[in-house]
Amino acid sequence: MPAPAAPRIAILGFSIECNKFAPPATKAHFLARTYLEGEDILEEARRPTPTMLPETPGFVAAMDKAGPWVPVGIALAMSEPNGPVEHGFFEELLDTIEHRLKAALPLDGVYFCAHGAAITTEEDDPEGVLFERIRAIVGPDVPVVATFDLHANVSDRMVDTIDAFIGYRTNPHLDMRERGAEAAAALRELLAGARTERVRLRLPIVPPTVTLLTAAGPYAEMIELGQRKMSPLIMNVSVMGGFAYADTAKNGLSIIVTARGDRAAAAALATEIAQYGWDQRARFYPKLTSLDEAVAKALAVAKDPALPALAFADVADNPGGGGRGNTMFLLRAFAEAGVEGALFGVIYDPPLAEEAHRSGMHYHFEARFNRVETTKFSEPWSAPARVAALHDGNCVGRRGIYAGIRLALGPCAALRIGGITVVVVSHRVQCADPVFFEMMGLDIARARSVAVKSRGHFRGGFDEFFGPSQIVEVDLPGLTSPMLSRFEWTRLPRPVIPLDDNVEWHPPQV
Ligand SMILES: [Zn+2]
Repeated sequence: MPAPAAPRIAILGFSIECNKFAPPATKAHFLARTYLEGEDILEEARRPTPTMLPETPGFVAAMDKAGPWVPVGIALAMSEPNGPVEHGFFEELLDTIEHRLKAALPLDGVYFCAHGAAITTEEDDPEGVLFERIRAIVGPDVPVVATFDLHANVSDRMVDTIDAFIGYRTNPHLDMRERGAEAAAALRELLAGARTERVRLRLPIVPPTVTLLTAAGPYAEMIELGQRKMSPLIMNVSVMGGFAYADTAKNGLSIIVTARGDRAAAAALATEIAQYGWDQRARFYPKLTSLDEAVAKALAVAKDPALPALAFADVADNPGGGGRGNTMFLLRAFAEAGVEGALFGVIYDPPLAEEAHRSGMHYHFEARFNRVETTKFSEPWSAPARVAALHDGNCVGRRGIYAGIRLALGPCAALRIGGITVVVVSHRVQCADPVFFEMMGLDIARARSVAVKSRGHFRGGFDEFFGPSQIVEVDLPGLTSPMLSRFEWTRLPRPVIPLDDNVEWHPPQV
């Protein structure tokens, strides 16, 4: 069958990473970030600074460039990482997608922008449910291509119901736009008649987030092995680290190979990468710095300007993993120890930001953090403060995962507490971009230490200031602690590394 001259391609997406231990995500959370239907998806995707993550803009731009096509916007719902999605909203989204997809028929192809680590308050595999529903509507012969965050937890259903599985390959996620473009290339190939076979293998390893960097380490080596073994038989190799805190039966480091019709080639390559990852299993255990040691390091660099400045990552309270971005453990310890020359960001506390705006610049007051308690980790704390800067929170990301993305952080304030300047925001976001300090007039290059509420994405934004040896990952309590033994798991497959001893895995017979 020849490819249609101007194929009709449906564009849709559902993208959120869900931490089962965090409060639920509602429709309002999607509306606050990106919720679009119909033609609005295309209009937003083609803007120079869209609100959505760059996979869909990358897909649309590559499709535009490759030749005529008719994009048909369906629905795109994207939110900051949060707790489980309220199931009622998920069902509403399913209905919207079903209704709009049926109205859009006949279609020649589908692009789906997924994250892959969503859960709802009732469903552990919402992406699988969505793909199954889409497949039932478009039929078996219409190619469906999907992109995924590398923190996706992958079910067989997610792999079996689509034609090409394309996951990010960098953490921090700096290749989102490229993966969108790759999805466009895969879809064009499928439209021209290519057929695929997909194989998924899962290891009994649930890697703590801090072991999933791609600059170096076991995970980086697995991805690199997959790319090195690409051949004309292979369309894509995706190594998905997964997201532990979703706590589902589908958790576990997974390798998904999409082959051009050759199942044996896909299985052989997936097995080789899985075996390599299994051999490296001893390296998937986190190593963090204690709070006392972190405070000592901050005091040392404050005292001695000859020492390189340090970045302290509060990896356990990462809004990018569902953390509330408001725990006080590190800030309180730095303030009580009298750390000087430190920047802290960004603390999510709308009432505090509102009070600072109401009071105005240079106002002296007792800054009361967490007057509304959101989780057991978000303890109240107060300290004498001065309002040092105010901002409306509207900005465009400068560097890293938010580069070129339009963000609304709500009323923001910089508060001076002793020798520390703290940036407070009103929309929960991880501190992955230097612009969150810069827009407040703060000079990162002059700070002796910078503490960020971020697990790893800050590395892509702050790399101009801090190399890997200047980064300290601090061991603190929180919803995104890499110390997985501190959580009460109910769905994770067991036994798994790093939680259990005597975990076994044997490669499947190819
Ligand atoms: Zn991710």
